[in-house]
Amino acid sequence: MKWTEEALREMEKVPGFVRKMAKSAVEKLAREKSVDEITVDLVQETKDKYFSMVSGKNKEEKKTTKVAVVRCNIVSEVCPGVGCLRAFNNRKVHFEQYGPDTELIGFFTCGGCSGRRVSRLVEKLKNYDLDVLHLSSCMCMDLEDYQKCPFKNQIKKVVAAKGVKVVEGTHH
Ligand code: SF4
Repeated sequence: MKWTEEALREMEKVPGFVRKMAKSAVEKLAREKSVDEITVDLVQETKDKYFSMVSGKNKEEKKTTKVAVVRCNIVSEVCPGVGCLRAFNNRKVHFEQYGPDTELIGFFTCGGCSGRRVSRLVEKLKNYDLDVLHLSSCMCMDLEDYQKCPFKNQIKKVVAAKGVKVVEGTHH
């Protein structure tokens, strides 16, 4: 099939490893349109059609991870949550694995023993595509002033049953 010089130059901008495939796609579109000479406009049209499909797929693959933190209601009386939030903001300790586009979409207290608010709020957060719930470090560790949550495993089961991943810990 005949190509204009301009169209060939436009094809040079396509990365080498997909150029052959892209060229076939342009020629296919030309045949569909009964065009016997490939112009730069046709190349552009193919790029728009083909690469928008590809980039749509990539967007899906690069889905942003949505994270939330639940913390102990008792401890929240004396802790404003700075350690948890700072660890998330700096991607430290239990947040190290997340990329910069990860979003913290919820930060809530359990509602008191035995975690009465957790199920309801996780359900709400699922409406915002929650992927992972972190149990605050104060729920998971025996510290000087308080002990780890005696209902931790029960809470973990409730959350996991909703299809949300549970991670123990935030900043310790
Ligand atoms: S259920 Fe656990 S995390 Fe919640 S208030 Fe009681 S001890 Fe704290």
